[in-house]
Amino acid sequence: MLANRCLIYRRRVPEQVPNPDFPGRPSSGWDWVRPRGQEAPLGLIWAMIGLSPPTRAGSATPLALDEQLRFERYLTRFRTRHTPAYRFDLVVLGGGVAGSVAALTAAARGLEVAVVTKGGLSEGNTRYARGGLAVVWGAEDSFESHVVDTLACGRGLCEEAVVERIVRGGPAAVEFLQQIGTHFDRGPEGDWVLSREGGHSYPRIIHARGDSTGLEIQRALSDALRSEPRITTFPDTFAIDLLVEPEGPVQGVLTQTPSGNLVVFGAPEVLLATGGAGQIYRETTNPVVATGDGLAMAARAGARLRDLEFVQFHPTCLYIAGAARVLISEIVRGAGGTLVDRDGVAFMADMHPAGDLAPRDVVSRAVFRRMIETEDTNVYLDLSEVEGDPHALFPSISRTCRVFGIDIARDPIPVRPGAHYFVGGIAVDGDGRSSLPGLWGVGECASTGLHGANRMGSNSLLEGLVMGMRAGETFHAQVATVFKELASDGCAKRWQHTGDPVLDVNIEDLTYSLKSIMWRQLGVERSAEGMREAVQKIGFWQRAVRDLAPATMPTFTLTNMLTVARMTAVSGLSREESRGVHYRIDHPEASEGLAWHTILAPSRVADGEVEIQLERAEVGSGSPLPTP
Ligand SMILES: Cc1cc2nc3c(=O)[nH]c(=O)nc-3n(C[C@H](O)[C@H](O)[C@H](O)COP(=O)(O)OP(=O)(O)OC[C@H]3O[C@@H](n4cnc5c(N)ncnc54)[C@H](O)[C@@H]3O)c2cc1C
Repeated sequence: MLANRCLIYRRRVPEQVPNPDFPGRPSSGWDWVRPRGQEAPLGLIWAMIGLSPPTRAGSATPLALDEQLRFERYLTRFRTRHTPAYRFDLVVLGGGVAGSVAALTAAARGLEVAVVTKGGLSEGNTRYARGGLAVVWGAEDSFESHVVDTLACGRGLCEEAVVERIVRGGPAAVEFLQQIGTHFDRGPEGDWVLSREGGHSYPRIIHARGDSTGLEIQRALSDALRSEPRITTFPDTFAIDLLVEPEGPVQGVLTQTPSGNLVVFGAPEVLLATGGAGQIYRETTNPVVATGDGLAMAARAGARLRDLEFVQFHPTCLYIAGAARVLISEIVRGAGGTLVDRDGVAFMADMHPAGDLAPRDVVSRAVFRRMIETEDTNVYLDLSEVEGDPHALFPSISRTCRVFGIDIARDPIPVRPGAHYFVGGIAVDGDGRSSLPGLWGVGECASTGLHGANRMGSNSLLEGLVMGMRAGETFHAQVATVFKELASDGCAKRWQHTGDPVLDVNIEDLTYSLKSIMWRQLGVERSAEGMREAVQKIGFWQRAVRDLAPATMPTFTLTNMLTVARMTAVSGLSREESRGVHYRIDHPEASEGLAWHTILAPSRVADGEVEIQLERAEVGSGSPLPTP
C-alpha cells in the first residue's frame, strides 16, 4: 500500500567546495579515493598504453545543427495541485544495480526513499548481466593496471580521474554486495574464482552462479530493498516527467501508477537510474524496459547529456525470427567456438590478430560486413571444434536453441550483432550530480567518463555499484519539498486527440520503423547520409506522434525512444571521425590529436518547448566533474 510520508531531515553537510563545471552546484569536498597529492601519474599511463594524451579541444564550443532540435517540455497535461502526491527525502527511478545501491546507502543514513520502477522491481539490464564484475583483487593485479586497460579501451575519451576513482572503489563496493547476501563463486580454498575477459590484463572478473552474475546481484539487492524499512518500492509505476521550478531545483517526478492515475512523488532530490536504451534498436540484448526514458526525461527537464553517439554492439546475439535476441557471450568463442559465414568459411582470423576473440567492436563490424558480402541475414557460430560437450558447457544456450530445432553440437548457431550498452548519458560529476540542481544520475543512464568511447567488459556493473554508493553517501536531503503549484498544458495537441481511426497513429508500426532505421543507419556502421536521413525521419515521426497519438503510456514510451534516437543521430552526425564504438564509413579514422565530448545542452524556450544546442567540450577540464 502506498504510504504518504512527510518527513523532514537535517544532517551535517560536508564541507562544500565550488564546482567549476556546474556553478551553483557545490561539490562535496570529499576526496573519496586517493589522498590529494597522490594522483596517478597519468602521463605515464598514456605512455604505457601507447597513446598520446588527448589534446584539449577548447571547452563547450557550440556546433551548428542542420535542423532545430526541439521537444515539448512535458509529455502530458497535469496540475500538481490536482494530483495526489507522496513525499520522500529521495526518489530513485530504477531498481537495477545503480538505483538499488544508491537507495540502500541513502536509507542507511536515515533518508526515507521511494524506489520507482516501470516494470517489476527486478526487471532491467542488471539481471541479465552474464560475464561478471571487474574488481582488482588478485595479488598480481593492481589498480594501475585496471586503470590502464580502461583508458586504452576508451580511446582518449575517458575521464582519467573518474576511471581511477571507480576502479579503486571496487573492493568496497563488492564488500557491500557480500554484506547484503550476494554469493560470488569461490574455489576450493574459499577464494573468489577470477576470470579474464577481453581488454583486461589480469584475471579480475568475479561472477556468481557461473554466467548468472546479474541475476544473483539483482536478487540480493531486491531482497535488501524489500526488507529495508526506510525504503518503499513502487513497481509498475511509470515515471513520465521530472518536475522542476522554472528557475529552481528539481521538485519531484510525475508518474503514472498501474491503475493509470497520475501521481506525483515530491522530493528535494531525484536520482535517475533508469538504465540503457537498447530498445531503440531492432536488434538488442536489452529487455523491453530499456527505452531510454531517463535520458529523454532529463533532456526535457534541462539537464546536459554527453556522448550519446557511442552505442556498444555485442557481436553475437542469437538470431532466430521470433526468438529473443539472447546474448551468446565471448566465453563460447573462448572455448573454441568459431564464427563462420553461410558457406562455412571462418572469417575472423583475417580480420584481427586475436581472431574470434578480437575486441567486440571489431568483431561486430566484421560480422556486419560478412552479412553484407554474403547477402545473408546473419553469420553462424560453429561449436563443432569446442573441447567437450557443448550441451553440458552451455546449457542455457543449448536449451533455447533446442526449442527452435537447433542442436548446438551439430548445427551452427545463427548470430548477428545487437545494441548492448549505451555508453553516453546524463553528464554527471564524480558524485553523480547532473547539471540540474537536485537531479542525480548513476548507472547506464549516466555518463561519468569511465567508459570513454568504448566500454570494457564487466566495467558497467562496477560503475553502477561504486557510483550508486557514492551518490547514496552524498545526497543532502536537508528539508522535504514544499510544493508550489506547477501546472502544465503538457502536450496540448495530444489531449485534443479525436479518436478518429483515420487520423490515428499506429504506435506499434512507428516503433518498429524507428528500431529499423536505427539499426540500419545508426548501427555498427554509420555515414553522414544515413544519419542525416534518420534525423529528418525521426523528427517527422515525432511531430506525428505529438499531433495525433493519444496520451497513453505506449505514446509516452515511443516519444522517449524517438527523443533519444534523434539525439543519438544528431550526436553521431556531428562526430566526423571513427572512435571506439562509433564507426563512420565516411570518416574511418580517428581525428588526429583531437578528443572531445559531444554535449547536448537543453534550454527552455517559449510555448512549453525545450531546445537542444549541440556543443563540444574538451576531455578533462571541460567535463562536468569536480577537480579531484
Ligand atoms: C544481456 C546483458 C549482459 C550484460 N553483461 C554484463 C556483464 O557481464 N558485466 C557488466 O558489467 N555489465 C553487463 N551488462 C551491462 C549491465 O548489466 C548494465 O549496464 C547495468 O546492469 C545497468 O544497471 P542500471 O542500474 O543502470 O540499470 P538497469 O539494471 O537496466 O535498471 C533500470 C531500472 O530503471 C527502471 N526504469 C526505466 N525507465 C523507467 C521509467 N520511465 N519509470 C520508472 N522506472 C524506470 C527500470 O524499471 C529498471 O528498474 C550486460 C547487459 C545485458 C543487457
